[in-house]
Amino acid sequence: MESYSKRLNAMTVDVEDYFHVSAFESVISPSDWSSITPRVGNNTNRLIDLFNEHGIKGTFFTLGWVAEHCPEVVKRIVDEGHELGSHGSNHRRTTTMTQEQVFEDIRVSKDKLEQVSGKAILGYRAPSFSIDKTNEWVFDILVELGFKYSSSTYPIEHDLYGVPDWPRFQHVRKEGIIEIPVPTLVNNGKNIGIGGGGYFRLYPYWVSNRRIEKYMQATDEPYNFYLHPWEIDTDQPRVDGAPLKSKLRHYVNLHVMEKKLVRLIKDYKWGTMYETYKDVINAE
Ligand SMILES: [Zn+2]
Repeated sequence: MESYSKRLNAMTVDVEDYFHVSAFESVISPSDWSSITPRVGNNTNRLIDLFNEHGIKGTFFTLGWVAEHCPEVVKRIVDEGHELGSHGSNHRRTTTMTQEQVFEDIRVSKDKLEQVSGKAILGYRAPSFSIDKTNEWVFDILVELGFKYSSSTYPIEHDLYGVPDWPRFQHVRKEGIIEIPVPTLVNNGKNIGIGGGGYFRLYPYWVSNRRIEKYMQATDEPYNFYLHPWEIDTDQPRVDGAPLKSKLRHYVNLHVMEKKLVRLIKDYKWGTMYETYKDVINAE
């Protein structure tokens, strides 16, 4: 661990509620959202408390919906020195929209987040890492809207997202924007995702930690980790009627997430995306 203690890594949170996730989109439609009591505000406050308690800063890629419905927590993110980024407006995957719709979705979210926070939004993360070879034009939209970086690609094979042969590390895209992919480890010629999500909850902490160590041994690049406020919310209402696979992924090991997160925070050095990647972001 010693040799990694100086390397700064990025802690990121995709700020959305349990009913926004792609896993439940077949059973909860956006027209239902207004009748559901949001839990994202409380859960995000708990994460901010946790980060503050351990003296780390993180980047919160936040939905425009959250800025509209829970503005206090969005203000708190920036007031307490964390970075605010955009996660789009309503968690619609960019692969399911036209170019005009994606433009509006991202523009509106950026405007709302900037109005509420008073800060310029520099980073974007597509819902469900939904930029792939079919919609690379999303990067042009991000450039047009003034974003400096994106963290929207996952170079793995997965049933829901991912482009396995895309770059594994931070790079300048041909559109002129920095892309910071979710970290991966090459195992038997295949990339495996090690950036967070359901697998971090599913596997024992030592398995995830060993993989992160292997990543650190293999490269000098920073590591970045993502999680969601609903992942620490053991009391969230259970969604009926969703596909079994979606439910397994969403609910597995929620009760151990917070403890694992604390261990992860203590084992490495963490900062915001901007802070971690600022040399490459500012060089572009
Ligand atoms: Zn999301």
